[in-house]
Amino acid sequence: MSGAGADIARVLRDRIRAAGSIPFEEFMAEAAAAYYGRGDVFGRDGDFTTAPEISQMFGEILGLWCAVAWQLMNAPDKVALVELGPGRGTLMCDMLRASSLLPPFRQAVSVHLVERSRPLREIQARALAGSGVTPQWHDDLTTLPTDRPLVVVANEFFDALPVRQLQRALSGWHERHVALNDDGGFAFTLGPAVPETAVPAAIGPCRPGTIVEVAAACTTVMGELAARLATQGGAALVVDYGYARTAAGDSVQALKRHAFHPVLSDPGEADITAHVDFQALSEAAAAAGARVLGPVGQGAFLEALGIAQRAEVLAANAAPQHAEDVRKALHRLIDPAEMGTLFKVLALVHPALPTLPGFEGSASA
Ligand code: SAH
Repeated sequence: MSGAGADIARVLRDRIRAAGSIPFEEFMAEAAAAYYGRGDVFGRDGDFTTAPEISQMFGEILGLWCAVAWQLMNAPDKVALVELGPGRGTLMCDMLRASSLLPPFRQAVSVHLVERSRPLREIQARALAGSGVTPQWHDDLTTLPTDRPLVVVANEFFDALPVRQLQRALSGWHERHVALNDDGGFAFTLGPAVPETAVPAAIGPCRPGTIVEVAAACTTVMGELAARLATQGGAALVVDYGYARTAAGDSVQALKRHAFHPVLSDPGEADITAHVDFQALSEAAAAAGARVLGPVGQGAFLEALGIAQRAEVLAANAAPQHAEDVRKALHRLIDPAEMGTLFKVLALVHPALPTLPGFEGSASA
């Protein structure tokens, strides 16, 4: 182990030695912060590949969605284009390039990136250097502008936020904790008892051993975002992998070099994420005053917005080998056996906005 991973492992070990054990949620939050703090962890040479890193088509489609949302808001003179967790900056770059098809939108836009990792901010700055915009960075949503509507995108942001795990024992529900085993390795353990009310109401009776996840960090951000949209106007698009309905189960996973890695081994060295509970996100957004559209499958969403036609154009203009890459990328993004249905798209909009492209016919909460 080296770098940030070794440091955070030592910090967590010291903390556990002092306290006996710590909540898993705290372990996940520290591991994720150390991990993204390392910088470029994405793509073929990194640990995992996200949709914008698979193909430019993904960002182009999202950019056009943002431009249409702005038009349906009656084209305000100023709009904040916000991305939560921009990674390498690829998605924002592709969105800006595509949205320059609508010059009045590009002129109205100021770009805001919510990113805590300093090394990733530098990579994002380099990615956007030629885009003609000067982005502003934010640690969280609180410093985003208040004087204009927001158009927000978040791809694989919510899955990186920490979740609390609760475990059913014979004696009732307990917080799931992390302790040290005899060899000094991290190990799960049953923490203090928690009241029955800590478990989401949607979860019925559970057998001993059952694990349930509660993503307070996700629902807090969602509530803040929805409250902003309800007061300032605007729309947000959340793309992530997860469940349409709240369900019991341990969904936390870690990825290192494109392979699953034991969740507690090497904190800060692997990408640690949880399935997103779209029902909980939708309820938090609706409670804070936004209208919720979807979720719909990523495949259905991208197809409704014309990704297959875009792929044809790109393939027709490419060398034969590259044309095959475009078709493969399309397949990865939309096929139900790939990212097409596990990945879902949810929109939150100001209540006065009409249904936005990609959500026609979808149920709204
Ligand atoms: N959207 C990108 C990257 C996804 S990885 C893509 O699709 O490729 C998750 C991103 O969220 C990283 O940029 C990470 O640094 C950022 N992130 C994770 N937790 C965060 C937090 N609590 N606050 C701000 N950014 C966070």
